[in-house]
Amino acid sequence: MTLLERFKKSDTTRWFFFGIAILAVLALTAMNIYSLYALRDSTIESAMENRKFQLEEYTNHVSHHFYKPFRGIRHLDMNDLEESWEASGRFPAHFNEVLFTALADSLFSDIYYIPDKKNGCHKPKYPVYRFDYQSGQFLTSTDTPKEVCDGFGISISGLNTISLDDYRFNNKMVFDAHRTMTSALINLSDHSVLGHINFVINREYLLNRILQPALESKFGSPEESGLVVWLRDWMQDEILLSSSDDYKFSREIVNIRQRFPGFLDTWTLDATFLKSPMVAATQASLNRNLIVLGFAVFVLVGALFFIFINAQKEREFTQRQTAFLANVTHELKTPLAVMQAAGENISDGRISDGNSLKSYGEHIYLEAVRLRKMIDQLLDVAKVDSGQTVVNSSAHQLDELVNDYYEKNKGYVESKGFNFTINRSSKLPMVLVDSEHVETILGNLIENSIKYSTKNKSISIDLIASDKTAGFSIRDSGVGIPKKQQKNIFKKFYRIENSMTSKIKGHGLGLSIVKNLVELNGGTIDVTSEPGNGSEFSVYFRPITGNYEAPHSEKRTQKSKSDGKVTKEEYA
Ligand code: ADP
Repeated sequence: MTLLERFKKSDTTRWFFFGIAILAVLALTAMNIYSLYALRDSTIESAMENRKFQLEEYTNHVSHHFYKPFRGIRHLDMNDLEESWEASGRFPAHFNEVLFTALADSLFSDIYYIPDKKNGCHKPKYPVYRFDYQSGQFLTSTDTPKEVCDGFGISISGLNTISLDDYRFNNKMVFDAHRTMTSALINLSDHSVLGHINFVINREYLLNRILQPALESKFGSPEESGLVVWLRDWMQDEILLSSSDDYKFSREIVNIRQRFPGFLDTWTLDATFLKSPMVAATQASLNRNLIVLGFAVFVLVGALFFIFINAQKEREFTQRQTAFLANVTHELKTPLAVMQAAGENISDGRISDGNSLKSYGEHIYLEAVRLRKMIDQLLDVAKVDSGQTVVNSSAHQLDELVNDYYEKNKGYVESKGFNFTINRSSKLPMVLVDSEHVETILGNLIENSIKYSTKNKSISIDLIASDKTAGFSIRDSGVGIPKKQQKNIFKKFYRIENSMTSKIKGHGLGLSIVKNLVELNGGTIDVTSEPGNGSEFSVYFRPITGNYEAPHSEKRTQKSKSDGKVTKEEYA
């Protein structure tokens, strides 16, 4: 046998490749599932990124509102401001323009000023100035609000943390939460500070006229934006605004927290992501893909299993058939050789005395019987295979058929040393069967009981009657059949090869013929057995009830004695 042939025949190799095929299918499936999930995650992630960007846009929008009036300050010459203030206690007109613009926006309600190192809030000998919108001048403030003084304090101490020598801008803006905004005016030519201007923030205006409308326009419909946003004062643990009244705030549902960069530092935007239509569609498409994939894998694995199991069965069958052919050739040759030798001896005249002639004659007879039985079996199988088995169904009293068989064969079975009994206590109902087939069935089963017997030689037939079945069982006390092999023994060419059966001759056809005949006659057969404790084969047929129409079968029932009909006489 070549290496390739050996490779092809090896069972392990087949299982190995089958395993590889299954693994490949599973690996492909896993890869597919992984990429489907990755695709879904990246879609969701980009949707999330998009929303974070929306939040950033919102804070940028608010920041723009705060800084808009002060853009001009950057280009002012602080020497001008300093000289003007020292000379007249006023700022030049172009600076006042900036202050007018700021006050024109209701976001700021008041503007205060203190020159550097002359903090009137702390040293009563210095004044605090308040911008008078009417006259366009800073007038001494008589009643400076506390938050203004707090703002000055923050601005002054903020300057202590930076080195003015390296500072590149002419002002430095600081926020006291949402209360005030203070700008330190810095003279870049001598790195000195002129003073601090404080803008009082109108909280109500900020909340209701700036933040709320922007919140609504940006995130108004949660279903569209996929977001619900709350403005929260984390110091006070208070929700100030929300983009939709339909959702209640809770810390657990917050997905992202966005700060206002550099201002309103006690407030945050807390947002929760809703399933946007895009995310929902992605999820639905993932589910659809998973279902289709699951189905395809199921079909593929199923088909692989089916092909593999079928191939295994085919192989087993071919093996059994090959073994059978070898066996049958041998079995055909043996009786022929015996008959040939015996015939030759007789025809040569070498055997002439009466006793020897009788013994040679017996030999020839027995071998001829064996040969005929085998040929009969082969023909039976061939007929069943080609669907040409003729079923001559007619109504029979089953117990009578079984009894007839028993009476006819009692002597033969007992001559083999068996205790052969029948339990006739039940009267079986009428069945529609081919009596010759019943005889063949009984014959094969009894032959097997004889063949597979042990020292304890007993065979008994029991009649089984119930409303729905009529049958018989054949019980022996032979070698028995292992549980695992019981389902196989009815297969064509199947033989059990073990120490108990190896010396017993057979071709694995008997039970396959029996099963086919039972089924052709509308019956069923089963076996109960235990190794060492004998076997019991039970055959059941359907009793006839009323006027019974025989099932029409062209090939099988070619000539039915009663045309399938049971007459009243037959019933009686
Ligand atoms: P065989 O020609 O081998 O007897 P069968 O189809 O009649 O073929 O039986 C198939 C196998 O079933 C046998 O090889 C035998 O091992 C087992 N078998 C059948 N009948 C019996 C029995 N009465 N007791 C034990 N084993 C049996």
